[in-house]
Amino acid sequence: MLLIIKLSCRDYGYECDFVAEGSDAPIIIEKFGKHTETEHGIEYSKEVLMQFILRKTGGKPKNGHGSCFDQL
Ligand SMILES: [Zn+2]
Repeated sequence: MLLIIKLSCRDYGYECDFVAEGSDAPIIIEKFGKHTETEHGIEYSKEVLMQFILRKTGGKPKNGHGSCFDQL
């Protein structure tokens, strides 16, 4: 079963219709990160974006940190 991840600017307080959507977390992170950096001047670290996704998908980082998306 493919998990669809969706990060939208509105969810994070931007008045913006940008949505990064897909099943591949690293790509979502890349897209959303690049968008917020170029359009909003906010640079989120990959770790922060990963937390956003984990929160969305209800997942928990293994051992608190240092996890990757291999499990998704
Ligand atoms: Zn935006």
